[in-house]
Amino acid sequence: MTTNDVKKIKKPKVVLSKTSKELKRSRVCKFCGTQRGLIRKYNLYICRRCFNDYAAELGFKKYD
Ligand SMILES: [Zn+2]
Repeated sequence: MTTNDVKKIKKPKVVLSKTSKELKRSRVCKFCGTQRGLIRKYNLYICRRCFNDYAAELGFKKYD
């Protein structure tokens, strides 16, 4: 038994296009530019922190 017995799995090449690059760049918070806690729902692209600050301005109402 040799180490050559290990099967080599070919990985498919990932082609990065311009569009994917743009998508990557836009996946940050509009206001502070962070990627943490980003809300992409409804095309908001706002982090949770900024969402709290700007929710009222964006037309979201708090329901307590
Ligand atoms: Zn933010």
